[in-house]
Amino acid sequence: MQSRPRTTRRSARARSAAIAEMRPLRLAETAPSGEDGDLVGPPAPQYRDLPVLPLRNSVLLPNMVVPLYVDREAALNAVQAAMDGEQLIFIVAQRSEEIEDPTYQEVYHVGTEALITRLLRMPDGSSSALVQGLRRVRVERWLQHTPYGRIRGIALDDADETGERIEALTRTALRLFEGVTKLSQRLAEDAYIQALNISHPGALADYLVAQLEPPIAIRQEILETVDISARMRMACQLLRRELSVLELEHKIHDEVQQEAEKGQREYFLREQLRAIHRELGERDPSHHETEELRARIEARGLSPEAHARALKELERLQGMPPMSPESAVVSNYLDWLASLPWRERSADRLDLRAVAEVLDRRHFGLEKVKDRILEYIAVRKLAPDGRTPILCLAGPPGVGKTSLGRSIAEALGRQFVRISLGGVRDEAEIRGHRRTYVGALPGRIIQGMKTAGTVNPVFVLDEIDKLASDYRGDPAAALLEVLDPEQNSTFSDHFLEVPYDLSRVMFVVTANVLDTIPAPLRDRMEVIEISGYTEEEKLRIARDFLVPRQVRDCGLSEARVEIDDGALRRVIREYTYEAGVRGLEREIGGVMRRVARRVAEGRRHKATVTAAKVPAYLGPQKHFPSEAEERDEIGVATGLAWTAGGGDLTTVEVMAVPGRGTLTLTGQLGDVMRESAQAALTFIRSRACRLGLPDGFHESRDLHIHLPAGAIPKDGPSAGITMAAAMISALAEKPLRRDVALTGEITLRGRVLPVGGVKEKALAAYRAGIGTIILPRRNLKDLDELPEDVRERLLFVPVETMDDVLPVALVPSRLGAGEVSPPASGSARRSPARPPLPPIETVPPATRVARQARARRAQVVAQ
Ligand code: ADP
Repeated sequence: MQSRPRTTRRSARARSAAIAEMRPLRLAETAPSGEDGDLVGPPAPQYRDLPVLPLRNSVLLPNMVVPLYVDREAALNAVQAAMDGEQLIFIVAQRSEEIEDPTYQEVYHVGTEALITRLLRMPDGSSSALVQGLRRVRVERWLQHTPYGRIRGIALDDADETGERIEALTRTALRLFEGVTKLSQRLAEDAYIQALNISHPGALADYLVAQLEPPIAIRQEILETVDISARMRMACQLLRRELSVLELEHKIHDEVQQEAEKGQREYFLREQLRAIHRELGERDPSHHETEELRARIEARGLSPEAHARALKELERLQGMPPMSPESAVVSNYLDWLASLPWRERSADRLDLRAVAEVLDRRHFGLEKVKDRILEYIAVRKLAPDGRTPILCLAGPPGVGKTSLGRSIAEALGRQFVRISLGGVRDEAEIRGHRRTYVGALPGRIIQGMKTAGTVNPVFVLDEIDKLASDYRGDPAAALLEVLDPEQNSTFSDHFLEVPYDLSRVMFVVTANVLDTIPAPLRDRMEVIEISGYTEEEKLRIARDFLVPRQVRDCGLSEARVEIDDGALRRVIREYTYEAGVRGLEREIGGVMRRVARRVAEGRRHKATVTAAKVPAYLGPQKHFPSEAEERDEIGVATGLAWTAGGGDLTTVEVMAVPGRGTLTLTGQLGDVMRESAQAALTFIRSRACRLGLPDGFHESRDLHIHLPAGAIPKDGPSAGITMAAAMISALAEKPLRRDVALTGEITLRGRVLPVGGVKEKALAAYRAGIGTIILPRRNLKDLDELPEDVRERLLFVPVETMDDVLPVALVPSRLGAGEVSPPASGSARRSPARPPLPPIETVPPATRVARQARARRAQVVAQ
């Protein structure tokens, strides 16, 4: 005899009680024979005629008892037909849930014969039936479809299977199920005991699968699996999977639990500790921390506003649980208030001579800047509480702007801080984040003040010209508040929330170019321009500052190494291309490191670095300085450019070829440069006749302007007269002088406007062996900055119009009278007081200068 499972799930326990009350199970004649209550009978196939009850989303397995809600008409009819007979019904799953009235193709072919043990009719016409699965039945024929489905099927009763294999499978399944019941929250506690009491393996497999509630497709597969071993194997697989999922679930749960418990435990222990401290009349450690903060704040001498704010926050902090995130935020805030300098200041060293001495010791030249600093100190001496000016040092990289800031601090005996503004586009970087942000910090200005530790440091803001702005706010506006003497005594940082006084800070701002500095910022600064160094200046800086420093930094001494001027000159010319000396310092560092290595390897002799030995230390030449063209050529003009590396020569090539009057510009020219080429062309067309150009050239000639080094972008208006001269030369087929360089902006009427970077350009021309520079008259003032030797060796021709340019730029021998208008007459009309142009003959022949330069270089190389 085989026992029947009493319940299928926890909630079913109540139901099984209800079943017990119902009339005893009456088996139809066709029911399996055997003892009463034994549902799984002998296997003899039997035909069964049964009404069909299709289920949308469930599969009833034999021996399971489930309630069913019946509301479809055909189903109600089927139930009614069953109740009219033996209360037996064929329950089968639909292939698709959506079908309302399934045909025989739309249900599976294997279902379960079930006994309706109770039927409740609802007021709305639907019914609730409690059914008990009896056996598997395979449909043989559909007898009818309406008013309800009826089938003839064959009972597929389980065979009696015994043997070692089924025994092993059964034991495995039971063991796995035991594990599942222990871990599962969903299964009834006695589910395992019930399983132990099912002696027939087939019924046991059905029971186990029903407990696991797998998806419908798997249940149907189990239902269709008549072979008991196969069914049991499937049950084992499902159990194993369920067990591993449950084990994983438990592991995760345990981990989460542990974390939560740890936090809670800590919290309770701390609270207990606080309570114990209170009981013992002692102060708890968090109180101690708060008191320490209070003491630091009192000692700092905060501003009245900051002090009031700090006391309020301290009070809040005392009321908070010490380990809460909120208390960490508040104590971090208080820590910032307590770490900032509010009163501490360094006493200014106002001895002018000592300051001058420090500046000279650290920096060569830069007289203008040094004078300005000394003036500042003199004013401080006479008016100690006067306003601090904001100095802006503008110039190419490596000319000593930042290090000058450091020297100012040292000279005055103040602290030094530096921040770089390059690429800063977020206002919060200047002004900080509000405290509500996670991980909020004050802005860079306040951070700098903390580093300085005094209220009057020298604060260098590097690269102010590289500030950017975007949707995150405008950092320039925030900087304005920092640098404006009217506002900076109450600078507001979002994090600090209380005003901070920056008025005693000496701000030194550095920039490479002034154009990109927002105008309101530029207005508030005193700009001191530092231009690039000449070769002589670089040599002196190298000899007096860079070499001694590098020797020291590499752990060497003058007894070990010497580098002569020839070598330094060669490094300057052939290994660096820059306006400043940063590259030079790097290369000297390279030489010294090589020497240091040799010394470390045991070399005893002093190393003497000469020009000839430079490649042995630094490798092959890195930079090839530009030189004047080899020959005077038609359509080739020499221009002067201003780059980050200083000044440089640029060649402008123009070709006039037969065509239809188009203008082509190549060499990566920017918009400004393209427009100035257009302006030059229009000017030339307007003067075609006076310039002796062929009639209608603008319709029969194409002009192509090219600036070599085509990969390097170029822009700016200063090549205007150079391009115009090259175009005229190409069209008139007159060569241009190769020893003359030009710079100047051209207007449509041929006027020449001033340009920037004249000092750098002149130095580049000097280095390249150019003899004459044509430059706008209004740039003459810039020549004061040039070193004496350069001024002596170059001839500067100031011009006001294009008419002044041509007689100097074109080769004189070919200059036919009347072909090009002579300069004197044109300019004399405009400005009678203007001095006549220096005669071209007085220009030291460029060839000579170039030859001298080359000879000099050759000499250096030979040294
Ligand atoms: P910048 O800020 O202009 O880019 P730095 O101040 O960083 O340049 O200077 C680069 C290096 O060149 C520093 O080591 C500095 O000491 C040195 N230097 C620049 N100009 C001078 C000078 N006039 N005298 C001595 N050293 C200089």
